[in-house]
Amino acid sequence: MAETLGELASVFLPQGAGQGRQSCDFQFNHGLQYYHMTASDSDTKQQATAPSNFIRNMINQDLESGKHGGRVHTRFPPEPNGYLHIGHAKSICLNFSLAQEYQGQCNLRFDDTNPAKESQEFVDSIKDNIRWLGFSWSGEVRYSSSYFDALYDFAVQLINSGKAYVCSLSAEQAREFRGTLTEPGKNSPDRDRTIAENLDLFARMKAGEFPDGAYSLRAKIDMASPNINMRDPVLYRIRHIHHHQTGDKWCIYPTYDYTHCISDAIEGITHSLCTLEFEDHRPLYDWILHNLELSSLRAVSDLADSQYDYVLPEQTEFAKLKLNYTVVGKRTLREMVEEGIVDGWDDPRMPTLAGMRRRGFTPASIRNFCESVGVARAESVVDLGMLEHAIRDDLDKHAPRAMCVLNPLKVTLTTFAEDHLEELTMSNHPKEESLGERTVPLTREIVIDRSDFEEVPPPGFKRLTAGGEVRLRGAYVIRCDEVIKDASGEVTELLCSVDLDTLGKKPEGRKVKGVIHWVSASQGVAAQVRLYDRLFSVEKPEGKDVDYRECLNPDSLQLLENCVVEPAVLKSASSNFQFEREGYFCFDAVDSTAERPVFNRTITLRDSWSGN
Ligand code: ATP
Ligand code: MG
Repeated sequence: MAETLGELASVFLPQGAGQGRQSCDFQFNHGLQYYHMTASDSDTKQQATAPSNFIRNMINQDLESGKHGGRVHTRFPPEPNGYLHIGHAKSICLNFSLAQEYQGQCNLRFDDTNPAKESQEFVDSIKDNIRWLGFSWSGEVRYSSSYFDALYDFAVQLINSGKAYVCSLSAEQAREFRGTLTEPGKNSPDRDRTIAENLDLFARMKAGEFPDGAYSLRAKIDMASPNINMRDPVLYRIRHIHHHQTGDKWCIYPTYDYTHCISDAIEGITHSLCTLEFEDHRPLYDWILHNLELSSLRAVSDLADSQYDYVLPEQTEFAKLKLNYTVVGKRTLREMVEEGIVDGWDDPRMPTLAGMRRRGFTPASIRNFCESVGVARAESVVDLGMLEHAIRDDLDKHAPRAMCVLNPLKVTLTTFAEDHLEELTMSNHPKEESLGERTVPLTREIVIDRSDFEEVPPPGFKRLTAGGEVRLRGAYVIRCDEVIKDASGEVTELLCSVDLDTLGKKPEGRKVKGVIHWVSASQGVAAQVRLYDRLFSVEKPEGKDVDYRECLNPDSLQLLENCVVEPAVLKSASSNFQFEREGYFCFDAVDSTAERPVFNRTITLRDSWSGN
């Protein structure tokens, strides 16, 4: 079995996946204007030490050739229309880590061109998630919407150079005119409007004279292009709608394709990394930038007053992170929230960062996972077991140990007096001394887990049996002298005697193999524990003819209401614990009350899904 994340990665990812920047089918024929920096400082830049991938190789080459003036400037560009998920974490780790490794910069830019689905709530949660993952963006948070004025001016520039026109085709007509994958499109009847007419109409679109959909601004490229994205794509549409950042200032909004490349250019981004679905959009990305005056882009850019020669950003695509047993599309996640399939975006079963955080995932475990998954151009599906391994590995090393009884059975230690209270000292971690020690109170009445007692033990049972002995973890060996049952025959209490000569030493003249966990009944704290498991029970909960609603794991949440946890847990500086013999758990800060703490199971001690 693979032991490390790296080994697991090699099991699940195709070998040699993702080599080199691929060229795209479509070639634009406008003069490429690459400007080289006069004095390259690439020699002084630290080369990446992390595992190589095609993007790091590309950046190393760019630094050697001085292509972007020896700079590395990336960005993470979320659309604030939902919460971030584990797929986004891959992009975040990639962009921010590259900037760190190369002593470059990484911006956070909200790609907020579609106000209908966006909100401040999502903006706030995204910022919070990125900080939580341990990254900080360069300078202020950016918003594409803060470039709306510049974007408008550039659109006017395109109109003036005959590269854009105002089109009056309805959405449906535009679809008809666009053609298909096998047939070229047809020119819009408005394609040859005069520049003056276009300028006038575009200004009136902005002024709010027309209703939604009456006009759009389109790039004049090629309706016969084999790449449909190049068939006179829409640059601006009319939307009389309030924007979370710009209020009611605008009633025309630029499209993603038009906005993204210009935003990159304004921010002086060097490497614009995105996922594969944008590969076919790259020619458009380049077309727009190369059809604008470089000097005017530079003039509004962050590099306007810098020593650097101005070089246009370049887009490079990598494969999305896909996980089996998981859906990550924001649209589906939103549906699951709205339909009440889960209890909100931060439900611990959600693959959102907010959900994973509440589930007890640590930032380090997610970063390690993303690093081990690697970056490739080839699509692949990563086994969820890898993510689970990452969190288990991190918590095994860093989570303090504690005892919590999930399904309590009362045990009276008859050797002790009524008021017996013994403070036992236990180490918080078997290997990590820095995690310190805690005191665990032992009293006459304790609880053990029901499953740790069998009146008639099955073969091989090493825990407590009627008349048998077992060691209480970190304490004494006890013997079950009497089993008390209720009228229905259910065991309600065990009376046990304590061998006082067994604290920290073996019992005389006999072997006691079993060790069970326990908690003082009077000193322990009543808690609710939520046993979370995978949300889906099938490997591919999404796809053609698959409704994810029918793939839900009915046992993804089991509520345990009567658990008892040792008191030290509530005073701990950590919110993640290994509850001995039960799994890794975390304190749920949302639903816990002063009277009753709630703990979420992050992950079991061992993988029960792999079939091994
Ligand atoms: P979804 O597909 O879940 O709706 P999205 O791509 O629409 O997500 P954005 O907010 O546009 O979400 O994404 C921000 C950045 O995160 C983009 O650069 C996008 O390419 C990247 N990203 C989104 N999903 C993944 C994923 N599964 N793996 C890696 N990167 C991703
Ligand atoms: Mg998107």
